[in-house]
Amino acid sequence: MKPQVIIIGRPNVGKSTLFNRLIGKRLALVDDQPGVTRDRRSGDAEIAGLQFTVVDTAGWEDEDPETLPGRMRSQTEVSLEGADAALFVVDARSGLTPLDGEIGRWLRSQEVPIVPVANKAEGRQGEAGVLEAYSLGFGEPIAVSAEHGEGIADLFGALWPII
Ligand code: GDP
Ligand code: MG
Repeated sequence: MKPQVIIIGRPNVGKSTLFNRLIGKRLALVDDQPGVTRDRRSGDAEIAGLQFTVVDTAGWEDEDPETLPGRMRSQTEVSLEGADAALFVVDARSGLTPLDGEIGRWLRSQEVPIVPVANKAEGRQGEAGVLEAYSLGFGEPIAVSAEHGEGIADLFGALWPII
């Protein structure tokens, strides 16, 4: 079995865009509105010969965005079982929100290795957000632009030692 990498984060940070980028397809499930991704989706990804299965989640969507409903959390918890790494995606443009902090605290109680990813980091507008993502406490954030395909080599560098 290929290693499994799960994408986690609050709504609208670009999880599905990153998923699509990693599997090399433009699927129709990306939208400006939160809650568009209904189901967990998985697909085959490869970066520079490193093959893994990537899983998109929508566990924190659909509900009040500033709470963590237990049943949504348990859905993501199920996804985390058997995962070899989790990409914890935040939005470098909007900056961190209380929900990012809450997801981070929850992730800390999980066994899986976490790679912090600051998405929407294209141009200079994302720089402050990338720096802020250090405060999540998971080490150096990987700056990417899922939309523009930037930072994928750095993501590879963070993933290959752990999967
Ligand atoms: P999800 O809710 O976390 O799955 O987020 P989506 O992938 O649906 O993306 C939410 C919004 O962010 C969409 O409008 C995307 O086009 C936009 N987005 C995703 N990645 C990037 C990026 O790298 N840069 C910018 N500027 N926007 C992005
Ligand atoms: Mg999505």
